[in-house]
Amino acid sequence: MPIDFSETGFETEEPLVATTLTRDDEGEGSLRPQVLSEYVGQEKAKGNLEVFIQAAKMRNEPLDHVLLHGPPGLGKTTLAGIIANEMGVNIRITSGPAIEKPGDLAALLTNLNENDILFVDEIHRLNRQVEEILYPAMEDYAIDIIIGKGPSANSIRLDLPKFTLIGATTRAGQLSAPLRDRFGVTLRLELYTPEELSRIVSRSAGILEVPIEGDGAMEIARRSRGTPRIANRMLRRVRDFAQVRAGGVITQSVADDALSALEVDYLGLDAVDRRMLTSIIDNYRGGPVGLETLAATINEEAVTLEDVYEPYLMQLGFLTRTPRGRCVTRKAYEHLGIQFLGMEQLTL
Ligand code: ADP
Repeated sequence: MPIDFSETGFETEEPLVATTLTRDDEGEGSLRPQVLSEYVGQEKAKGNLEVFIQAAKMRNEPLDHVLLHGPPGLGKTTLAGIIANEMGVNIRITSGPAIEKPGDLAALLTNLNENDILFVDEIHRLNRQVEEILYPAMEDYAIDIIIGKGPSANSIRLDLPKFTLIGATTRAGQLSAPLRDRFGVTLRLELYTPEELSRIVSRSAGILEVPIEGDGAMEIARRSRGTPRIANRMLRRVRDFAQVRAGGVITQSVADDALSALEVDYLGLDAVDRRMLTSIIDNYRGGPVGLETLAATINEEAVTLEDVYEPYLMQLGFLTRTPRGRCVTRKAYEHLGIQFLGMEQLTL
């Protein structure tokens, strides 16, 4: 079932590590796996889902409400589409900021068919009034609508079809407790391994009909920070290099040249990662430094650093979070070629 992304705005600036969709992601839909067996990695989440989907189908009931959380570009929207396909139901896609008034949500909910899925991206950004409509909708498949104003106002209860809400968020911690508690299933998506990403790159190259060697796919995979969206973006850029400079085939050296020209180093760190690490080293002696202070120093948004940059730097073991703030590790000093002066440096 094709997914409608017409509500998604495209950004004009196009860094490889962009948080939202960029021009490079146009046509992303064609690269989305449609069934669970094509969805690479996330074995734990997939295993659980398989069981829940089968059980719901056997009982002919809608799937329990599902909360997907993890950094951007890991496949939350894709997974929601797959769940709809596997359940054989329709999916409506919207996002927290797009639902402005309780009436908008009521309209979405009353238009669903039995067992349909409503996918709400960035669900942590729903406003309060809208969220309150969602509670009875999720729990009792009903909404209360107020008719009239003042003393003559009347509340009537409207029954809804049984549906499944799939919420996606980059920050599960920001969800209010009443909302979080109403999800029967919570699945956390993890950063992908280079091997998994290499399978995704090869699969995407096949769909885009770009010849690619195994080593070429692995080179892109290693540099895509555990994130399929970035891997697919890199594949498209490397494809251009390959076409113009190397007869069309993506080999390891073509991928290496192309990505180096784009200032992505061999671990996938880009200019912002490097600025973040060197700024902690130069200005705060390696840390600890608070996130807000760091964000102000390098002129980036704190949420972007936290959601997009930190997870990968932490996975690499380059950055640690402590109660007093962020610290750069010895490993990062080594990667950046900066001399590590040991603990003294931290206490000077
Ligand atoms: P999110 O909703 O978490 O931001 P998306 O679902 O939009 O991420 O995924 C971004 C892109 O990455 C999709 O176009 C899809 O092609 C690809 N992708 C994500 N997860 C997988 C996966 N497990 N296997 C193959 N491709 C994937």
